Amino acid sequence: MVFTSREIQLRSRPRGEPSDDDFATVTVEVPDPGPGQVVVANDWLSVDPYMRGRMDDVESYISPFALGETMTGGAVGTVVASDTPDLPTGTVVRHFLGWREHALLDAGQVEVLDTAIAPASAYLGVLGTTGLTAYVGLTEIARVDPGDTVFVSAASGAVGSVIPRIARHLGAKRVVGSAGGARKVRRAMEDFGYDAAVDYKEGTLLEDLRLAAPDGVDVYFDNVGGTHLQAALDVVRPNGRVALCGAVAHYNAEGRGPGPDNLYQAIKKRLTLRGFIIGDHRHLAAEYTQLAAGWLADGSLTREETVTTGIDTAVSAFLDILKGGNTGKTLIHLPRT
Ligand code: NDP
Repeated sequence: MVFTSREIQLRSRPRGEPSDDDFATVTVEVPDPGPGQVVVANDWLSVDPYMRGRMDDVESYISPFALGETMTGGAVGTVVASDTPDLPTGTVVRHFLGWREHALLDAGQVEVLDTAIAPASAYLGVLGTTGLTAYVGLTEIARVDPGDTVFVSAASGAVGSVIPRIARHLGAKRVVGSAGGARKVRRAMEDFGYDAAVDYKEGTLLEDLRLAAPDGVDVYFDNVGGTHLQAALDVVRPNGRVALCGAVAHYNAEGRGPGPDNLYQAIKKRLTLRGFIIGDHRHLAAEYTQLAAGWLADGSLTREETVTTGIDTAVSAFLDILKGGNTGKTLIHLPRT
């Protein structure tokens, strides 16, 4: 059986904010699997802010998307044709050929998932790179010690919405977040486990942060960069730790964008600031998945997903993340008829 696949390609490289016009949807025929290969029907696609960086033709930790080629990204799907005995049809797998309906993959490119532990979509979010990023940031990068206060930016996003529960498991006493808008601030406190949250689009971030964390913070998990990092450096306590995870405030910036003007705080307070790329920490995936599966089962870790349906929604879902339209993990569901 020949499968056709609708796929999203990069048509042009944006300057500043991307738009629909930078993408094209094409339909291709997927070849039959050769020996050691499978065809996977993607059920879930991961949409992530770092993909904005891949639209630029610049040197980075991951190669840029090529113009006129189908984009890639995390995906979970079901094997629908197989020429490898270890991966019979019906096997649910995770792989990196997202942004398309069907993918031809070598057996070595897929990872078999245990959907008895959690629904397939969780393997792109709380049980996947998203959750692992939170865990690595709070353990290897900016260690949380019992009794610590933790501050998190983009608190209602994919990584931000899982941090309080994980931080609590590690002994954090207080977790404070920052998010854009009253609805996200409320959800951060009511649904994601934050003790306090500030709306960075209203008021003054630094003053509000001082009120939310009157004794200062021990760990800052930075998803945003710019003025968030600047405010955090002012409230982090001596010997505090900062995990530099993301800088979403800069992703659409033309030029360098705002940066902290108070790095001297890092010297005065003997701070540790450490950037990380999650791909360098995959050795912790098995440990984290086991822990997180247990926490999901006992309800001490929860899933938050913003889901749209159909490949035609992928571009708008991506553009939405960069404008703060999501809460939790952004996923595209591709139901099969
Ligand atoms: P999110 O789901 O948090 O989406 C991004 C959020 O950023 C938006 O929802 C929006 O929330 C916020 N945002 C957008 N623009 C701005 C701005 N100008 N200022 C402040 N906030 C803004 O994404 P993820 O959880 O997937 O990722 C969070 C961060 O972590 C990103 O920077 C990402 O690139 C990074 N990351 C890094 C990894 C690594 O290996 N180092 C791995 C995974 C993610 P709001 O409405 O609150 O503004």
